[in-house]
Amino acid sequence: MARYTEAVCRLCRREGQKLFLKGDRCYTKCALENRSYAPGQHGQGRSKSSEYGLQLREKQKAKRYYGVLESQFRCYYEMAERRPGKTGENLLSILECRLDNVVYRLGFAMSRAEARQMVSHGHFTVNGRKVNIPSYQVKPGMVITLKESSRGLEKIKANVEANSSRPAPKWLEYDANNMIAKVVAVPARDDIDLPIEERLIVELYSK
Ligand code: SF4
Repeated sequence: MARYTEAVCRLCRREGQKLFLKGDRCYTKCALENRSYAPGQHGQGRSKSSEYGLQLREKQKAKRYYGVLESQFRCYYEMAERRPGKTGENLLSILECRLDNVVYRLGFAMSRAEARQMVSHGHFTVNGRKVNIPSYQVKPGMVITLKESSRGLEKIKANVEANSSRPAPKWLEYDANNMIAKVVAVPARDDIDLPIEERLIVELYSK
């Protein structure tokens, strides 16, 4: 399972905005606040982007928010194209339905990277069966549960506490007392609060 292993703050600096890839630290000691320019030798001297540059940056930003590498992102795009409706919105909906994103959205993890690790370690079940695949796609009707044996873990308890004021998205019906969530709808564009201009990604891949 390939994943990005370099310093993640560089990714935020490259995109020029906070992508919240490091959990707690993003709210306290963010690298972007001290170095708000792109990384690298020419980071402070980059000029205005071309149309292609803007499209590319938007695609990179979406990939980085969800922690997805290029080949998988391309597969998601092709899936989105095959579905009825707007390709850009379908793409975000598919990304949003990844199990690691669901775990993050429910507040069990402080970042999607942490959620990915929790899923890989087998802390969650879907419809009563252990699923340790972060990219697993959830669908309406599925029930996601934190395993009974994982409920006592200090890290998860601390995350749940820290995120208690963050509501679950409305496409997930969450029972916080029993740590069970049901997928009640396919996430619509309005349910996804990320500042991504999906239109630019579609333009990039349509060339
Ligand atoms: Fe991005 Fe978080 Fe690093 Fe800030 S601390 S640059 S938001 S990953």
